[in-house]
Amino acid sequence: MVDKVIIRGIEILVASTQTALVEYLFSKNEIKVGRLVAINAEKIVLSEENRQLRQLIQASEYNYADGISIVKSIHKKYPQYRHIERIAGADLWLALMQKSAEMAVPVFLIGSEAVTLAETSAKLGTMGVNIVGQQDGYFSSAQENELIERVQRSGAKLITVALGSPKQELFIKKMQDCYPDALYMGVGGSYDVFIGKVKRAPLIWQKMGLEWLYRLLHQPTRLKRQIRLLKYAYYYLANKL
Ligand code: UDP
Repeated sequence: MVDKVIIRGIEILVASTQTALVEYLFSKNEIKVGRLVAINAEKIVLSEENRQLRQLIQASEYNYADGISIVKSIHKKYPQYRHIERIAGADLWLALMQKSAEMAVPVFLIGSEAVTLAETSAKLGTMGVNIVGQQDGYFSSAQENELIERVQRSGAKLITVALGSPKQELFIKKMQDCYPDALYMGVGGSYDVFIGKVKRAPLIWQKMGLEWLYRLLHQPTRLKRQIRLLKYAYYYLANKL
């Protein structure tokens, strides 16, 4: 089951499971076309400060709830969906890679440091993923057009972009305007997690909805970013969802 809800003016897909979302994105044996965006509290608050980001998220075809605050907000505003769980971007990305291998979908990887990208690509290759191109995340704006042409020429149908937020969302939009015939996904630190460079929170923390706290304790520089969570907590408590 995949349905849509609205949280703070943003349309979000609700899927009963991650598998249901993957099946939806590949229904009729064809990968969907559009942008797949992870929504969390930080991104919602950021989008209220940054009009361009807000427009991008509002126009994105497939937003999903990656972030316990968003999941709790859906439970509160839409009690009929109180069973839905968080879909972590890194897990969804991996599931899409597995499905792409199965369906022989051509994949283009963008983002992260060159060494991380090389390791990610090699590991995906052993899983049978058809990688038709790749580019690390440290290119200049002068190189963007050439990269977009490369993506287009590769014929990729799934393009995953790890540049962090909101950089990845902005670049994805630019690519999509030139080459709309693909599914784009912003994946943040997913490649780093995939090759074991960055550790996810232990499962018990994830299950308790505390992955954000684990990341904060390991990367205290995220505190400034996570201050936005306080603003979101107010929206939640004041029923401004
Ligand atoms: N990154 C990049 N180019 C940049 C900035 C960041 O390729 O100009 C990569 C960085 O190496 C890392 C990822 O983007 O692999 C960002 O991960 P982060 O955990 O910050 O993403 P989040 O999911 O928190 O937005």
